Amino acid sequence: MKIAIIGQSAFGAEVFKLLQSKGYEIVGVFTISDKGGKEDILAQAAAAANVPVFKYARWRVKNQVIPEIFEEYKSLGAELNVLPFCSQFIPMEIINYPKHQSIVYHPSILPRHRGASAINWTLIHGDEIGGFSIFWADDGLDTGPVLLTREVKIEPDDTLNSLYKRFLFPEGVKAMGEAVDQIAAGSAPKLVQPAEGATYDPKMTAELAKIDWATTGATAVQLHNFIRGCDRVPGAWALVNGERVSLFGSRLVPAGQLPTAAAPNPGQDLLIEGYADGGRKPPLTHADGLLLFGLDGNCVSVATARLEASGKTVPAKQLGLSPDQAAAGVSNLTDAESAMKPELQRIWRGILAREGDLPDDLDFFKAGAGSMDVTRLVEEIKNSIQVSLSNEEVYMATTLGELFALIVQRSRAGADGAGSFQYDAVRLQANGMEVAFPRQAFINNRFVDAASSKTSPTVNPFTEEVICEVAFCGKADVDAAVAAASAAFHSGEWGRMNARDRGRLMFRLADLMEAHKEELATIESLDSGAVYTLALKTHIGMSIDSFRYFAGWCDKIHGQTIPINHARPNRNLTLTIREPIGVCGIVTPWNYPLMMLAWKMSACLAAGNTVILKPAQVTPLTSLKFCELVARAGFPPGVVNVLPGPGAAVGQSIAEHPEVRKLGFTGSTPVGRTIMAACSANVKKCSLELGGKSPLIVFADCEFAKAVKMACNGVFFNKGENCIAAGRLFVEASIHDRFVEAVKVEIAKMRIGDPLDRATDHGPQNHRAHLDKLLEYCQRGVSEGAKLVCGGRRVAGLRGFFMEPTLFTGVQDHMHIAQEESFGPVMIISDFPDGDIDGVLSRANATEYGLASGVFTRDIYKALRVSERIHAGTVFVNTYNKTDVAAPFGGFKQSGFGKDLGEEALNEYLKTKTVTMEF
Ligand code: NAP
Repeated sequence: MKIAIIGQSAFGAEVFKLLQSKGYEIVGVFTISDKGGKEDILAQAAAAANVPVFKYARWRVKNQVIPEIFEEYKSLGAELNVLPFCSQFIPMEIINYPKHQSIVYHPSILPRHRGASAINWTLIHGDEIGGFSIFWADDGLDTGPVLLTREVKIEPDDTLNSLYKRFLFPEGVKAMGEAVDQIAAGSAPKLVQPAEGATYDPKMTAELAKIDWATTGATAVQLHNFIRGCDRVPGAWALVNGERVSLFGSRLVPAGQLPTAAAPNPGQDLLIEGYADGGRKPPLTHADGLLLFGLDGNCVSVATARLEASGKTVPAKQLGLSPDQAAAGVSNLTDAESAMKPELQRIWRGILAREGDLPDDLDFFKAGAGSMDVTRLVEEIKNSIQVSLSNEEVYMATTLGELFALIVQRSRAGADGAGSFQYDAVRLQANGMEVAFPRQAFINNRFVDAASSKTSPTVNPFTEEVICEVAFCGKADVDAAVAAASAAFHSGEWGRMNARDRGRLMFRLADLMEAHKEELATIESLDSGAVYTLALKTHIGMSIDSFRYFAGWCDKIHGQTIPINHARPNRNLTLTIREPIGVCGIVTPWNYPLMMLAWKMSACLAAGNTVILKPAQVTPLTSLKFCELVARAGFPPGVVNVLPGPGAAVGQSIAEHPEVRKLGFTGSTPVGRTIMAACSANVKKCSLELGGKSPLIVFADCEFAKAVKMACNGVFFNKGENCIAAGRLFVEASIHDRFVEAVKVEIAKMRIGDPLDRATDHGPQNHRAHLDKLLEYCQRGVSEGAKLVCGGRRVAGLRGFFMEPTLFTGVQDHMHIAQEESFGPVMIISDFPDGDIDGVLSRANATEYGLASGVFTRDIYKALRVSERIHAGTVFVNTYNKTDVAAPFGGFKQSGFGKDLGEEALNEYLKTKTVTMEF
């Protein structure tokens, strides 16, 4: 079939190429005249393919087709005219001349939105379904019979641009090809357009694009639809402080979810003509833009604004700021900051070989700089302005004004990127230093009181005194934190940040934790009773390692390409994409407060999620101190949120919240069950690191002294408040008595006392209720007939929640202390007959827990047989408690599922998308 194409633009060019590739003979292309000496892209495509191109400024005079044009057209012998996108008026003689007449592409579902600005009006009218039609050409009023239509669901934040790019253009080109195929096959329908539902909308002009605050901008939804319907052409505009300003990038803010950091404009008041009529709320600025309210009290957030007088586009939040305020993105430049500007100008002049004053909107690359110059720029700024930037940051702030703003912000944040951060701190003298920490909830990078203003005390288990009152959050705080985390994930800087920058932020946070490790360890010791030296090495040391380890993963998270069966004659390609889940919740226990936070949160953040964490009520302080470091490291608001408060309210609300898509929990098995039930209500992904009763089997052929030391370490480490503590020892009968005696000697050597004293081995239990439970646990062991060799009581004559290291022997399998974890310094020993490997294995496995286990032997066969047969997530052979951030950690059976640490932990915070393509 011979085809003439009449039209223009990239859309026309793509249709031309498609029809050619399908084997149709394109006999001629009719397009618009050159503009500024440049051919339209359709003309270029046709010329490149040696197809004749005709450029007529007009086709008719006095309503009659120009005869020479008509003759020239007829000579081509076209059997069909295809009009992909045509802005000219084509005479009916030409339209009707070919055998199959003419087909036209129109970007709406006809008969709705006839006219030249169909996409604008589809959005402005708030249509939920859009699409396009291909119809048989008429006299220009879009009333001809329809050949085919294609529909698309319009997303809430679609703009004219996004709708065109994602659907109307690509699918439109394909559909033009299908329409021509149908005509060639003689199967193309001609469906008369119904009269019902027909609309004709005017051409959208700059005049019509002015926001009328009484109609098109009355409610937030109307305003949003109007702005996005004009985005980017022609641009919805208003008079702002007397100047015409077009607004782009509108987002509807869900009712009641105002960004918490929204504040009045830091510059002059914004006077928007007509806006205040009817008494709507004044505009506010926030991290991502300008908030404009509707008369209904709801609002939209607008991202950018074009100042029509200068043609300059600026972040909308900068409207009303003076040029220097806008350049810095902040108000009140200091003298030192102002002096950076001429210095930066000097550096640019040197690199760009230019003279004189350089304008703020001068673009580094458009002015001639290349990638080599970026390194020089970064180095010169470092040397003469003492601000360190990365090359990537220069690529993102390409104009002089943007780069200056970045430099000011970075210098305010401090040389290491860690800004000073003001909050209402609790200050204490302890451990030979002043420690300062927050006591409020952390939401959107701000420390705030609980919505109810309630507080609860946290107690020092060594002194039994209240350290301070801490925010006692509830459901309302969870809702606020989820809104902040959701905004940070879906529309904030974090969601847009590339993986390497995310890693850099996490490394910076780890460095700050390292710089504050003594302070963190002191706070941990005060709040949880952890022995300071252990807190320094394990509680804090491993937390830092964990952030460093996962920071390194950020830019190594990727999917696979997978061979699948081809759908012959076509070929297929399948690939997987690993995506963050979104807003995640984390609930932690009190035994390693910061370390449990770090194990989970580091993987969660590395994967790109945002998070709401609830620390245990009795030990919230290091989690809150950590938040201070998060803000100082430069994490965007809303990425990390921490809410101290009760599990039944805060933890439960996080588990139940429909927008929290994943919950990571560490704690007891009973609470784990409750959490899993709550997660099931909205089918939330969860991982549970629960209680344990980990068996440790000591064979007679072991390295005896090491086994004794390691067994003590396995039980008494961190006062026994250790989820993988060796909950039950099985000692081979022939060495049982000697082993018990050696343990007694070790226990006698343990120094009990002030956890901040460097010589102390054993500190106070975490809190009073826990100590009481431990005493009851030991009582039960005695009453069930186990032999209490030593301990079992509160340490006499010592203030603080101290429990004597305890040793039970003769423990029978049915006893409570053989079945349930103590979570305290209680060693429980049973013997087993010499050589009975399978017997001891079946006793060791006779528990619903399956967290960890251990075996001491010199015999490789026994070591491997135990490793193979034991039902536990971790097996230690001739060692104990040896966890590492690179090795996966997690339990079996009722000790939970999912892993912390190691590469596997990332799976808990990622989802996999499968993309299959045919070509
Ligand atoms: P827990 O009583 O289960 O509490 C853990 C956390 O869950 C606390 O923050 C608690 O809040 C919260 N919570 C309580 N009820 C809740 C609910 N209905 N919904 C949501 N959250 C709720 O455990 P714990 O006594 O703190 O810690 C000791 C347990 O943790 C032991 O069983 C130990 O074995 C286990 N643990 C396991 C691992 C592991 O990796 N497998 C590691 C460490 C500890 P409150 O502050 O209000 O209590």
